[in-house]
Amino acid sequence: MSNFLIAGAGIAGLSAAIALARSGHEATVLEQAPLLSEVGAGIQLGPNAMRILMDWGLGEAILDVGCEPTHLIVRDARDDHVLTSRPLNDQDNARQKYGAPHVTIRRADLQSVLLKAALATGANVLLGQTALGLHESRLAQFDALLGCDGLHSKVREDLLANTWHGGKPHASGHTAYRAMVDMALLPLELRSQSVQVWLGAEQHVVAYPVNLRQMNVVVAQEGAPTLASPMSAELHALIAAVQASGGFTTWELFHRSPMFASKFYAKGKVALLGDAAHPMRPYLAQGAAMAIEDAQALGQAIASQPNVDMALQAYAKARWKRNARVQIQSQLQGYVYHASGLVRTVRDAVLRVAGERVTGMSWLYDYQNNLKEST
Ligand SMILES: Cc1cc2nc3c(=O)[nH]c(=O)nc-3n(C[C@H](O)[C@H](O)[C@H](O)COP(=O)(O)OP(=O)(O)OC[C@H]3O[C@@H](n4cnc5c(N)ncnc54)[C@H](O)[C@@H]3O)c2cc1C
Repeated sequence: MSNFLIAGAGIAGLSAAIALARSGHEATVLEQAPLLSEVGAGIQLGPNAMRILMDWGLGEAILDVGCEPTHLIVRDARDDHVLTSRPLNDQDNARQKYGAPHVTIRRADLQSVLLKAALATGANVLLGQTALGLHESRLAQFDALLGCDGLHSKVREDLLANTWHGGKPHASGHTAYRAMVDMALLPLELRSQSVQVWLGAEQHVVAYPVNLRQMNVVVAQEGAPTLASPMSAELHALIAAVQASGGFTTWELFHRSPMFASKFYAKGKVALLGDAAHPMRPYLAQGAAMAIEDAQALGQAIASQPNVDMALQAYAKARWKRNARVQIQSQLQGYVYHASGLVRTVRDAVLRVAGERVTGMSWLYDYQNNLKEST
């Protein structure tokens, strides 16, 4: 049995603690924040993430507090016209196709399910304790260090210092405005049980229910922070409801190039997971899902390879290409979502004609099954 020190109790850190415990190993998680809470934010869990969470026995706890939205509906932000729509969970679509539903949930609720599960497996979660990267004095007491400390990871900074992938993330020029609105404050037609996306030039808006009472709203904006682009009456009503119930929280989005070799993910007894390894634009709604996939891969690697260094190498090899692809596709999705002029006209035509196919994402959601078939 090995003993892991994990920096960060976000989705990556808690998922890693659960996956390690399932493989018979111990984890101590250091979290700098005194409390685990992210106010005013929701998260989508694609079937690829939900399949793992269900395998860990957390499906029921998540579905007790989250939602299974029925459709993905993509609209034109200028006039609300539907460009395309496809079932997510309607007629058991995601469960049938991918073996798990597509779920939307408050982040705080997801984190509390993960925290409870990590504690139940015996993980030691220490809040209010900052991890000091490779200079951590407690390191000698552990077999390995996992950097799950997010976008501005200290572990990554130390591990990759003086390498091709050293350096800090830089501002992407994109900003997310996030809010949680009471359903009761929304006009009836906006109280949808679907994931709705409105596409505008250099911006898009996403809204989805996170439970029976609340709707998560995100405006992603490229360039100068403004909410002044042409918007349909429905979108105006949505934004007005947000402003009336506390307004948006501004969230600057950062960029880091994907790491193009497994050696940047793990070295010796140190490895990176989640945003510490592969921060991405939120346009495929997959950053947390990749953190959960990382944790599962790490658990599988350590279960089949008891030597910790070799298990970390196996984890890195299993994950770097998948994460790089999702990072790149997320960035491309931003270009497509925020297109203007002729590109916008072509995109809208493609969405109208073949929307269900191009928004389908089987390569993304069916990952583990695709892997099994290719091995
Ligand atoms: C607007 C927006 C919408 C998104 N929507 C989705 C979505 O719908 N679906 C999806 O899958 N993903 C989504 N994401 C991405 C997702 O939020 C992230 O990918 C995910 O939270 C990464 O988890 P993590 O644990 O790696 O990092 P984080 O969530 O950043 O957690 C890192 C943790 O480490 C702690 N920490 C940092 N430094 C230290 C230290 N030195 N010592 C101790 N603790 C430390 C932090 O306090 C934090 O708790 C979205 C992102 C944004 C910005």
